[in-house]
Amino acid sequence: MNEQQRKENTQVNPSDKKSDKDYSQYFQAVYMPPSLKDAKKRGKEEVKYDGFSIPEEYRGMGQGKKFYIRTYGCQMNEHDTEVMAGIFMALGYEPTDGVEDANVILLNTCAIRENAENKVFGELGHLKTLKKRRPDLLLGVCGCMSQEESVVNRILKVHPFVDMIFGTHNIHRLPSILHEAYMSKEMVVEVWSKEGDVIENLPKVRKGNIKAWVNIMYGCDKFCTYCIVPYTRGKERSRRPEEIIQEVRHLAAQGYKEITLLGQNVNAYGKDFEDIEYGLANLMDEISKIDISRLRFTTSHPRDFDDHLIEVLAKGGNLLDHIHLPVQSGSSDILKIMARKYSREHYLELVRKIKQAMPNASLTTDIIVGFPNETEEQFEETLSLYREVEFDSAYTFIYSPREGTPAAKMEDNVPMEVKKERLQRLNALVNETSAKKLKEYEGKVVNVLVEGESKNNPEVLAGYTEKSKLVNFKAPKSAIGQIVKVKITKAKTWTLNGEMVEEAVEVN
Ligand code: SF4
Repeated sequence: MNEQQRKENTQVNPSDKKSDKDYSQYFQAVYMPPSLKDAKKRGKEEVKYDGFSIPEEYRGMGQGKKFYIRTYGCQMNEHDTEVMAGIFMALGYEPTDGVEDANVILLNTCAIRENAENKVFGELGHLKTLKKRRPDLLLGVCGCMSQEESVVNRILKVHPFVDMIFGTHNIHRLPSILHEAYMSKEMVVEVWSKEGDVIENLPKVRKGNIKAWVNIMYGCDKFCTYCIVPYTRGKERSRRPEEIIQEVRHLAAQGYKEITLLGQNVNAYGKDFEDIEYGLANLMDEISKIDISRLRFTTSHPRDFDDHLIEVLAKGGNLLDHIHLPVQSGSSDILKIMARKYSREHYLELVRKIKQAMPNASLTTDIIVGFPNETEEQFEETLSLYREVEFDSAYTFIYSPREGTPAAKMEDNVPMEVKKERLQRLNALVNETSAKKLKEYEGKVVNVLVEGESKNNPEVLAGYTEKSKLVNFKAPKSAIGQIVKVKITKAKTWTLNGEMVEEAVEVN
């Protein structure tokens, strides 16, 4: 499809939608929806790398205008928002903190759970009033939800006042999407179901100047049966190591203290390279030599977590020994139905290896309870695995069916009350273990990267330890942005209180 055809296929005029009957006819004639079926296909076509630049004719498009982006979901979305903010600023827009004075509002959405989607539809309901009052306002929906056919159809039908819908593979096309939205006043729907090239040099406006995210790869090929991400984010594509290293060097030179390497499944990094044998361990090893105080990565998949990575992480230094390792279930049978492609035993063996190489490593995890047909015994296996590993903490969820995924078609004989009761039992264990782990910090001195004032008390500063524990303590504001030594005086349920004992620690 050429550019012109794509434009013709992706524009919808909401004023044409007179009735549901007309709508379906019209829909087939001029609208090409995102397709989960197409999104599932994994082609062998080579990944291309392309540069980004703002076309001359769009420069200054945002002069005198303001943008506002509301972000839902994971760090990947947060980082996409940084990129979109960068594009807006390159177009001449200014950021604003609220919807009231914004000229363009984007909802950068998350599709991981039904609850997250409902929040977005609720927000669109609120924004309708604003749009009525200010018809010039441009309203857009992007992120993972816009990759779903059902969501796009619902917006077309129920929220026709939305001006733009664009997908996760179309972010770099934001300038022309905005241009179309201004020029034609039609609803612009541009959602590529298949991923495109890896685009480098995208402008970014990073949130803060202490910690930064760096994308190392996009997409996921794992197709866990409950997960929508492989459909909304496309196939695994790794950025070239030299591009990543250059970005990290640049951030170090700007004074950033902590970098988190991002990807949906970072342990698969490099598997798509055809010309080099290069994985996450090689990348971490190289980046660890850059003068940056802290280096993390997320999210890991236990199946691809290899011995080489453990060996590299065990060298320590700026490589932090906090590993987020989603297990999802402690039952091998459930893991099989989830298509996680590892067993309880494999996971426990991996944990043993990590702890052997890094005895002080802290592990956190994600767990889904109430997966279709999960039995009481299978749930108890999750509890027993949690006790055995003694995770520092966990994100716990009730299974949420996602349309288009295999698990959503499974019959489910677990009543919602049972799922809720299991979640409560799991959370009680998570809280108890976490409190016990935090208690061990009392009296110890830890390195804290100070991020700013505490949200609840501006008199107090807040920051994170190497193992991602939130610490509140009194210290001069000059400590913000520094790594300082803090003696822990009290462990609370989720956070630590302390006293600063030494300013500006050099950790490398
Ligand atoms: S590895 Fe993660 S992102 Fe990929 S399908 Fe599984 S849960 Fe989803």
